[in-house]
Amino acid sequence: MLISYHNHTRWSDGAPTLAGQIQAARAAGLVELGISDHYVLTPPGIACEWSMDPDLLGDYVLEIRQAALETGALTLRLGLEADYFPETIEELRERLAPYPWDFVIGSVHYVDGFPIDSRAEDWASLTEAERDQVWRRYWELIGELAASGVFDFVGHLDLPKKFGYRPTVDLSAAAAAALDAVAAGNMAVEINTAGWSLPAGEAYPSLDLLRAARRRNIPLLINADAHFPETLTRHFDRARALAREAGYAEGVRYERRQRIPCAW
Ligand SMILES: [Zn+2]
Ligand SMILES: [Zn+2]
Repeated sequence: MLISYHNHTRWSDGAPTLAGQIQAARAAGLVELGISDHYVLTPPGIACEWSMDPDLLGDYVLEIRQAALETGALTLRLGLEADYFPETIEELRERLAPYPWDFVIGSVHYVDGFPIDSRAEDWASLTEAERDQVWRRYWELIGELAASGVFDFVGHLDLPKKFGYRPTVDLSAAAAAALDAVAAGNMAVEINTAGWSLPAGEAYPSLDLLRAARRRNIPLLINADAHFPETLTRHFDRARALAREAGYAEGVRYERRQRIPCAW
């Protein structure tokens, strides 16, 4: 069952219109297409250039819901990729509450104001100890994200590796604690295939983390994080092989935030 849930449009930083992504999904033979544009309620002092205007959330939902009436055999899923910040999580909860989401992705793109996936230069300017601290805090924030109950699955679980900067100390206990929180929060994770086309050189998350997720019975999706119509199913064959290697026999999909098992 070919589904792809983590995808962007011009509502945030994707290149295509919603109609363009729908057309591409049909051409790719998708059964379900999820749209998950960025929704970032920043704390004071952080400016995010790639989020939709937070006050336009209702218009975004309306456009997707109207389009979904006309996609025929292709099911269009109403999603969102929302950032977790300790300072704004309660406002986020309130702002999301009125809408009939199929799924909400929880992502951490900022660690205490540091933009972890924007530019390699940002990482290059840090000391080794500072990089390790970003990683440590990242895992803490993922744990808090999972405990909030606001999100359905975690986006690109080990995103700080994007530019190739790995921790220089053993942070496996911190990662394990974050995964424990994901399991306790009844959340899923995704294989985000974008990492294969980035300096990280591997999918998010790593095989080790996927195995650790599987041991905790954390459900799994396969997504491309597509910002272009051409990448809706990029590296999906590879991702299915990786999922099997980690011990996953099936995936999940969502309808109105209810998780449903599905074959890959
Ligand atoms: Zn993201
Ligand atoms: Zn994304």
